[in-house]
Amino acid sequence: MRGLCIDRIGRRQIVAGLSVLPLIGGAEGLFAAPLSASPDQPYFRFVPGAYEDKLCFLPSQEACDICGKPCVWKYSGNVYAVNDPDSLCARCIADGSLTRHFGHETFGFHDNEVDAGPAYWEEINHRTPGIPTWNPIIWPVIGGMPFAYVASGDSKRFPTGVMVDKAVADAWREIGWDTPGAPSYVLLFKQIDGPEYRAIIDFD
Ligand SMILES: [Zn+2]
Repeated sequence: MRGLCIDRIGRRQIVAGLSVLPLIGGAEGLFAAPLSASPDQPYFRFVPGAYEDKLCFLPSQEACDICGKPCVWKYSGNVYAVNDPDSLCARCIADGSLTRHFGHETFGFHDNEVDAGPAYWEEINHRTPGIPTWNPIIWPVIGGMPFAYVASGDSKRFPTGVMVDKAVADAWREIGWDTPGAPSYVLLFKQIDGPEYRAIIDFD
């Protein structure tokens, strides 16, 4: 199941859709649960922008394969499993229904590695919607706590600032590039309870 991952709707399409959406403020606003949080639209702390810019969900009244109710927000990413559901709602990701559904069967929402303790590992892999990436990634962690995904470099939601610039420059240097490449290859993450950013280079 490892290897190049292109999401069902494709990252290119997601990126193309950004230009028509209104500008959303800096990353700080991402880390408070949105006022619109509801049982149908649960908050995911490691992907706080999950409902914005078609990142992880699309509005849909299609029935969820797991709970049988209208999705309201249908997951548009991948579930890495032998028998992945065709239709999956945000509620069933957040409340752990999928873990009960799969039982002992291996599954996950991300093509990634996350070097965190069992509780965070479980939350990231089993109760956090997958973010669109071209390649398997190593999810950044600080002091055992995973970072939260913010945006890709060509998103209007991409924040500005010295800490962001440093994280992006560091990411390019880490892969041996002295001069930064195209912003579209950058995936940005932010520390949940602190000011740190980390960036990953994800070539298509
Ligand atoms: Zn459901």
